[in-house]
Amino acid sequence: MKTPREPDLELRGKLIRSLGSLREMLPGSFVERKRACGRPNCHCADGKRLHSQFQISVLIDGKPKALNIPGDWAEKVRQKIEMRQRFDAAAAAICGVNLKRFLKEKEERQA
Ligand SMILES: [Zn+2]
Repeated sequence: MKTPREPDLELRGKLIRSLGSLREMLPGSFVERKRACGRPNCHCADGKRLHSQFQISVLIDGKPKALNIPGDWAEKVRQKIEMRQRFDAAAAAICGVNLKRFLKEKEERQA
C-alpha cells in the first residue's frame, strides 16, 4: 500500500537535504565600493573608471567590522554570504511547515 503523498513533508525533506550544501556559509553582508586610488596617472583619475573594493561587513565579538576582501576572492566570499540568506529562507520555510502541522495537531487534540 502506498502512503498518501504529503507535499509539506516532501518540501521539508527537500529543504533539510539542501542545507548540507550551505555548510560554508558566512555571516555579514557583502559590499562593493568604487573608489579612486589617488594616483594622477591612473585610469581612475577620470572619476569614471574607478577601482572596485570589496568588503564584508560583519559583527565580530559583537562589534561591527568592515573587512577588505582581495578581488580574486570576492566572488567566492559573495557566494558564501548568499548561502546564509538561503539557509535563513530554508529555516523559515521549515518552521512554516512545522507550525502548520503543530496547529493542526493542536486543533485535533482539542476536538
Ligand atoms: Zn587608480
